[in-house]
Amino acid sequence: MNIEEQSGNVLTLADVKTGEYCVIVRVMGHGGFRHRLMEMGFVRGEKVKVIRNAPLRDPIEYEIMSGHVSLRRIEAEHVEVVSVTEEVANSYSFHGTVTEETERILGKEGKRIHVALVGNPNCGKTSFFNHATGMREKVGNYSGVTVDSKVGYFKHKGYTIALADLPGTYSLTEYTPEELYVRQYIMEQHPDIVLNVADASNLERNLFLTTQLIDMNVPMVMALNMYDELEKNGDQLDLDTLQELFGFPIIPTVSSKGTGIQEVMANIVNLYENLEQYTKHVHINYGADLEKSIGIIKEGLMEIPDLASHYSIRYLAIELLAGDKTIENLVGKYDNDKKVSALAAEQRAVIEKRYNEDAASIVSGAKYGFVRGALLETYTQGKDKSTQPAYSADKILTNKWLGFPILVFFLWFMFQMTFTLGAYPQAWLESFFGWLGDVITRVLPDGIVKDLLVDGIIAGVGGVCSFLPNILILFFFISILEDTGYMARAAFIMDKLMHRMGLHGKSFIPYIIGFGCSVPAIMATRTLENRKDRILTIITVPFMSCSARLPVYLLIISAFFTKHQGLILTSIYLLGIVMAIVTSLLVKKAAFKQERDQFVMELPPYRIPTFRNAMIHMWDKSVQYLKKMGTVILVATVIIWALEYFPRHGKEVDAYTAQIERVQADETLSAADRDAQVAQLELDRSACQIENSYIGRFGRFVAPVFRPLGFDWQMGVSLITGFAAKEIVVSSMGVLYHSDLEADEHSSALQKSLQTHTWTSGPDIGKPVFTPWVAFGFMVFILLYFPCVAALSAIRREAGRKWLLFNIFYTTGVAWLAAFVVRLVSMVV
Ligand code: GDP
Ligand code: MG
Repeated sequence: MNIEEQSGNVLTLADVKTGEYCVIVRVMGHGGFRHRLMEMGFVRGEKVKVIRNAPLRDPIEYEIMSGHVSLRRIEAEHVEVVSVTEEVANSYSFHGTVTEETERILGKEGKRIHVALVGNPNCGKTSFFNHATGMREKVGNYSGVTVDSKVGYFKHKGYTIALADLPGTYSLTEYTPEELYVRQYIMEQHPDIVLNVADASNLERNLFLTTQLIDMNVPMVMALNMYDELEKNGDQLDLDTLQELFGFPIIPTVSSKGTGIQEVMANIVNLYENLEQYTKHVHINYGADLEKSIGIIKEGLMEIPDLASHYSIRYLAIELLAGDKTIENLVGKYDNDKKVSALAAEQRAVIEKRYNEDAASIVSGAKYGFVRGALLETYTQGKDKSTQPAYSADKILTNKWLGFPILVFFLWFMFQMTFTLGAYPQAWLESFFGWLGDVITRVLPDGIVKDLLVDGIIAGVGGVCSFLPNILILFFFISILEDTGYMARAAFIMDKLMHRMGLHGKSFIPYIIGFGCSVPAIMATRTLENRKDRILTIITVPFMSCSARLPVYLLIISAFFTKHQGLILTSIYLLGIVMAIVTSLLVKKAAFKQERDQFVMELPPYRIPTFRNAMIHMWDKSVQYLKKMGTVILVATVIIWALEYFPRHGKEVDAYTAQIERVQADETLSAADRDAQVAQLELDRSACQIENSYIGRFGRFVAPVFRPLGFDWQMGVSLITGFAAKEIVVSSMGVLYHSDLEADEHSSALQKSLQTHTWTSGPDIGKPVFTPWVAFGFMVFILLYFPCVAALSAIRREAGRKWLLFNIFYTTGVAWLAAFVVRLVSMVV
């Protein structure tokens, strides 16, 4: 027997005729659907007028909150109403809370809450039921012969709570009749609230069922039963945090004695009355691979009409991926050409091949990871019990004392490998592009096409490609750390520290990637569930000094610092980290004051990584990087090249050209002298060319901005060219400081010209431009100012235009101020 049968037929919005009025009693169905309807104004107590409803007409048109909306019939059937007369409707006003007036209208209908008891066998459901309803159901191990539910009633605050005692299940799959029954009950009967009874003395196993209920997206209250057992064992549980993590109320109960039952009921009524505000829905994160497959299946499901109003699409997608036959049949009823089941089978095969395990186990593994993560944060065991072997390494790896040093070691190792191993292919690629440039120089005639190819495209693409080996190696290690499950532990270890910064432990991973390149780091923030954490991480990641900035530091440090080189480099990196922390705290205070959501940090089971898997993941990530680089950077380098290249002719440039021709024609000079003079003149000409180019003019225009920092206009222009990519700063300096030699191979030449460069005007005329302080200030500026165009476009895509603008102005402002502080300090010291 079910509750709807007992209370007679329910009137739904679909039954109300054209021109009639009604008041909404409740919206049934799963969370996502209910949420959507509520956003449209279909909330309890709201009055509705039916504008048009012909028997076979779909959709139906309604007037609600003095606006018109149309609902599909199938959606309207999920809205339970009481019909009222026009006079009542006109005199009736609803202010969002259940007032006496609304109660009068909603009457008896609105006072019934349908609650389903769901939990493992022997967790105390029937005891709870008997205490609450005063009935005498048989307590003890449920035999499972008759799969059925008992319904009892209970009064609380004027509500009649109809409590359905369902059979006990460990899981909500399809393997036993009990499981199927309970799942069907929840999906078809739409209980208003599911009361999940969990045995506190066996949390891990009991919470597994809870994760399935979370997937189903039903409003939930948990009775944490057998709390006496938990206390007797000396275990400790941080209930407040656990509630936050799971996103629903959790009440400790001892149902054999009746303790806590009143409180559970109070919470049920409270949740029911405030269902409109019920927004926090926790998503269990299944990890990048599974989430990707779930996303693909979800897209397929979205195309099937009517499914979304009946079921939670995400839930269906997860079950289809896990290979649940019952759900497949269910979806098959709607999915005529079996497109989605083919899609699911395809994704299942991908996942199973990748992990060499059946999809259902992978999904359960992720669920246990969620539970483990939540418990590790909230639960302290009194007496020692044996833990699952799959997690025993956690004892060491997340240990209070050992965890951090181990993490530091792994990171050190990873970066060491990235830069030492990566140096070889990097050198090969650089010489390849150098060779390619030479060949083209020789083959093509002088002119704009050659210049564009050699100085624009090859220089740009070559610069990007030479970083590719480092990126690939870094991603290879990150993939391995992720695949083994260690990354999740790293996030866990860092969580406390990151929380102090107003961030989440998972922000740690993007930060680490950020030392390689901001673009994939910003993309990696997608694993963060909450928008606040994501935004804060995205706008602070660029302060993690990316590897493209390193060549600039190396150039400057080796030119101006003979002692403590390593220390100075480290101080730059540390300054970046400090700025990220300060920024995150400030922005959080200013923009995200209210939010304090906590999320479970999933601890997936440890797995042995496979080479193949690591390669696939590495490739996935690198493709993102390459796409960004290949498009955005290429375009940007060509633009910057053009701004440097044009206008082509000026009086001074032409004068140099004439002089070069004169020297070449001069018979009195020896061949060696002539070549030397020509080379010098050509250098001067290209410097003059740049000085008069659009970018040079712009640089001189903004030079006063850089002057207080002790920077000359050449430094300013070099910084601006860093907009395309930070490594371009080095080659710009090469050109601007009359050192036309390739910066990375002959950096000593460039360094020499930097060391000897003097002011040609202003108060410091004749003094060297670069002092160690100016050099340090320049590095600080490089570290902090706006990220490259590829990173900016990633920020825009992940965080939106507003945060993009904020990032550009904030980082540049901070860079200016910091360099100015360095300047002031230099004057004092
Ligand atoms: P069900 O299978 O979930 O319906 O569980 P029952 O209500 O049949 O309870 C199973 C056993 O646990 C019975 O022996 C109950 O007396 C006992 N029990 C139920 N709740 C509690 C509790 O909170 N604490 C303790 N210590 N025992 C309980
Ligand atoms: Mg029972």
